[in-house]
Amino acid sequence: MHDVLVIGAGTAGLTAAIYARRASKSVLVLEARGFGGQILNTPAIWNYPAEPGISGFDFAMKLYSQAETLGAEFAFGTASGFRAEDGGFTVPTADAEYRGRSLIIATGTSHRGLGLPGEEALTGRGVSFCATCDGALYKGRDVAVVGGGNTAVSDALYLSDLAATVWLIHRRDSFRADPADVALLGRKENIRLLLGTRVTGLVAEDKLSAVVLTGPEGRTSELPVAGLFIAVGMVPATGAFEGLLELDPSGYIVAGEDCRTSVPGVFAAGDGRTKDVRQLVTAAADGAVAATAAVRYVNSL
Ligand SMILES: Cc1cc2nc3c(=O)[nH]c(=O)nc-3n(C[C@H](O)[C@H](O)[C@H](O)COP(=O)(O)OP(=O)(O)OC[C@H]3O[C@@H](n4cnc5c(N)ncnc54)[C@H](O)[C@@H]3O)c2cc1C
Repeated sequence: MHDVLVIGAGTAGLTAAIYARRASKSVLVLEARGFGGQILNTPAIWNYPAEPGISGFDFAMKLYSQAETLGAEFAFGTASGFRAEDGGFTVPTADAEYRGRSLIIATGTSHRGLGLPGEEALTGRGVSFCATCDGALYKGRDVAVVGGGNTAVSDALYLSDLAATVWLIHRRDSFRADPADVALLGRKENIRLLLGTRVTGLVAEDKLSAVVLTGPEGRTSELPVAGLFIAVGMVPATGAFEGLLELDPSGYIVAGEDCRTSVPGVFAAGDGRTKDVRQLVTAAADGAVAATAAVRYVNSL
């Protein structure tokens, strides 16, 4: 049994591992997909203190190697929940079970989908949630971006340097992205705006060939595109913990700045907990706070 079992190797989980190891506790970090979390594919980070312009990949690798060098252990697997037993917590995955005297949940958020028929099956075959990962696949072709926030606008700007035409589709009449980025849209001749319009269907045989649009007057039409980039927000990756600890109505783990959850010995860190600012720097801060609290909890057992 490890002293501290961390679920999620994003910025919050890896920082928690660093702090717990500095306190000489044994640490296991369980990760479902890739060490580093959601920042991995971001081309450049400009707001993390003392690292201006660092790529998301380099940031993630530096953090991972810092935790590893300090002696954190790692395992791959998707946690499907936890149960309290024998003075600790057991976390099951499909292949194994992991045990910790304390538990830090740092599972972050994942991309919200449109909920359209075929969306899941077409992901990777025309439907994408990451312009910087998949944009190059659509060089010289027509693509669409759906959404109205910072990610949608910056995805459209990024894709305009690769694709022939970028259709930016937003259900409202104005964008809620940074005004400076919205202003840049007007300078790109190959970005076309479709406001007051929703994507209501996907047309595909093997791969996506068009999207179905429903316009302001409820009229539907088909727009031929090779790629659809969905940027309509994030949802907490906390489904595995439903019913095990308190979640707010949106699914975020209820925990304050002290990262304590409704279950003693279980702490929540990073984007997956109730908080105002979801950024790397606040995820790192949560990792430090949650690990310090977990270490105190373990010392009190
Ligand atoms: C495109 C984009 C650009 C961004 N740019 C910036 C920026 O420039 N500056 C900034 O400060 N912030 C930026 N952010 C926000 C920043 O990435 C997040 O605030 C930060 O990554 C949150 O860290 P986290 O550790 O809480 O969660 P995450 O980074 O989401 O990590 C959670 C980890 O948990 C894993 N996981 C989830 N469920 C399970 C499970 N059941 N079992 C095991 N593992 C699981 C996931 O695979 C993931 O690796 C950006 C986000 C995006 C999407």
